[in-house]
Amino acid sequence: MICPKCREESMQTVEYENSKVQIDRCDICDGVWLDGNEMDQILGKYSPQYVSTLYGDASKRLCPHCRKNMFIIKYPDTYAEVEMCCSCKGIWLDAFEMEEICMVRKHKY
Ligand SMILES: [Zn+2]
Ligand SMILES: [Zn+2]
Repeated sequence: MICPKCREESMQTVEYENSKVQIDRCDICDGVWLDGNEMDQILGKYSPQYVSTLYGDASKRLCPHCRKNMFIIKYPDTYAEVEMCCSCKGIWLDAFEMEEICMVRKHKY
């Protein structure tokens, strides 16, 4: 799969920290791609109810599946600005944003 940031075939499928959820991680920039409900599976009861209502500006990066521009959203209750595809609801996270979101949300709830 092509990394939205590096634009290279650098994405590898990996299991996220013994969660049994397979995510795609870029070998070059360490960013991660999560399909539609994968973030909810990883966060479980800590996942926010409505992420899709928070669309912000259009991003220059393209969804690796749909090849459409993604939108920048602020992930609920975190400082992370992530990118989401309106069509497939996949999410792109830069390096460390994944850890930040998991840490902040689990601490808060
Ligand atoms: Zn990359
Ligand atoms: Zn998409």
